[in-house]
Amino acid sequence: MVHLEFNSESENEGIARVVTAAYMMRFDPTMEEMADVKTAVSEAVTNCIVHAYPDRDGKIIMDVSHEDRCLKIEVEDFGIGILDVRKAMEPMYTTKAEEERTGMGFSFMEAFMDEIEVTSEPGKGTRVVMSRTIGGNEALYG
Ligand code: ATP
Ligand code: MG
Repeated sequence: MVHLEFNSESENEGIARVVTAAYMMRFDPTMEEMADVKTAVSEAVTNCIVHAYPDRDGKIIMDVSHEDRCLKIEVEDFGIGILDVRKAMEPMYTTKAEEERTGMGFSFMEAFMDEIEVTSEPGKGTRVVMSRTIGGNEALYG
């Protein structure tokens, strides 16, 4: 597994994506699998950067692990938290419409991963756990 801790400056979103891609190489992923998981990670980490810590830098923890071919990614922050997680996960729900957010981040995570679980406590932080089984090129081409 890989345990990564970084602060919420926007440049670090790219680092989270690159680490995810590097970790996935062991599965010989298809281009689509690679793109999907990187997008999901990007959305989760971006949420920590723009929502969890709106006016300060804060800590973000990302854990990447796997069991057989099931990749698991956990992204955690210690920021403002979410009052109503179910509502926040609805397509097109955003609290930052004025900043050109479309409210599709959680929807992408749900679409691109097999499973996603979000837990949050206002004032304490938010934790996103998502997983996807990576078939890889061998599953695709034999
Ligand atoms: P987009 O992802 O399309 O740019 P968005 O970030 O607003 O827009 P989602 O990613 O689906 O959309 O998140 C929905 C809402 O959930 C956000 O507007 C925000 O209110 C809340 N939210 C998401 N992640 C966090 C987080 N880590 N901490 C606090 N609030 C969050
Ligand atoms: Mg988002």
